[in-house]
Amino acid sequence: MTLGIRLESELEQFKRDGVYKRLNYLESPQAARVKMQGRGEVVILSSNNYLGLCNEAEVVAGGKRALEQFGAGTGSVRFICGTFTIHRELEAALAQFVGCESSLTYGSCWNANEGLCPTLLGEQDIVISDQLNHASIIDSIRLAKAIAKCQTAVYRHADMADLAAKLNAARDARLRLIFTDGVFSMEGDIAKLPDIVALARQYDAVVAVDDSHATGVLGQTGRGTAEHYGMLGQVDIITSTLGKALGGAAGGFSAGPAALADYLTQRSRPQLFSNALPPTVAGSALAAVRHVERHPELVRRLHENAGYFRGQLTALGFKPLPGETPIVPVILGETAQAIQLSDLLLQEGVFVTGFGYPVVPQGHARVRCQLSAAHTREDLDFALQAFKRVGTRLGLI
Ligand SMILES: *Cc1c(COP(=O)(O)O)cnc(C)c1O
Repeated sequence: MTLGIRLESELEQFKRDGVYKRLNYLESPQAARVKMQGRGEVVILSSNNYLGLCNEAEVVAGGKRALEQFGAGTGSVRFICGTFTIHRELEAALAQFVGCESSLTYGSCWNANEGLCPTLLGEQDIVISDQLNHASIIDSIRLAKAIAKCQTAVYRHADMADLAAKLNAARDARLRLIFTDGVFSMEGDIAKLPDIVALARQYDAVVAVDDSHATGVLGQTGRGTAEHYGMLGQVDIITSTLGKALGGAAGGFSAGPAALADYLTQRSRPQLFSNALPPTVAGSALAAVRHVERHPELVRRLHENAGYFRGQLTALGFKPLPGETPIVPVILGETAQAIQLSDLLLQEGVFVTGFGYPVVPQGHARVRCQLSAAHTREDLDFALQAFKRVGTRLGLI
């Protein structure tokens, strides 16, 4: 069998299993309403464009300026000749924004995570991970285990007693690293940072938080999970993405103590062997950070929109998972139901993704709504009316 034929037959199986992903093509920039090819205008409730900065004029202009000044590409990895002054400016701004002493950017947060565990940990060390952590953290840990031969443990999601037990069992390790998402993307819940930091102090552990869904989102000024809990400066390592609230282009970073950025520059493999962040992307991300610093009202509007949507959805008779983040999952049970709700909403001009097994556990299929500061009350009411019509038709409410 040729490779092509084998792949085609596996793709057919994905379709029969209902796990095949069809791509939707957008014909306009990411915003509250977008032009979707073959669909016309739809309200987007599925984007990570939390602050509406993907097409914010200042953010686009920041990218253009960097393109003019530095050109399209870095043509090199950072340590050879791919480091531009805009990288330094961006990394200083990011570190300050999230409350750390230094930061280092990567081509993505996936890369930042992948570059972290295998670099920091050795045979005598252990990483202890929340069960629901993002795939990039899981792969980072798998790599660390394979390359650096570190020990690993997983604690039940948000279960502090289980985390304490895992820390206790790891008393003899040289370094104990607790790694958690700040906001869990499928549930929309927030890591119990005060408890995690208290346990880390008790057991002499280091805390790493992946704040990809929290940077620009949580806290009064969008500085993330630490700000949400009034704990800025108390997290050892923060990784996050530039591909969500901060302009949404691409890129990620690791932030931490002053020596962290330098150490990762010396040793982390995605940093040593993969190109630096393109100047355009660095320029738009820097403009995004500055924009959030000057416009905390965007973060406030995001929180208001999330509260309004969650409340109205509940009033309609839906049962969204309770929470404080702009991720509002509506649990339906069977995968087919989630897909059907999502399909019918799209026909009504509302784009919201359905997630089923294996992305979420069997029987917990859901549609996941994500709110943005870019949504107007009109956009949200339009979406809620669609939920009402479709929900009634399917007998969900
Ligand atoms: C989205 C996300 C990532 C990946 O970010 P990229 O910059 O797109 O690679 C990593 N971690 C978490 C928790 C995420 O939500």
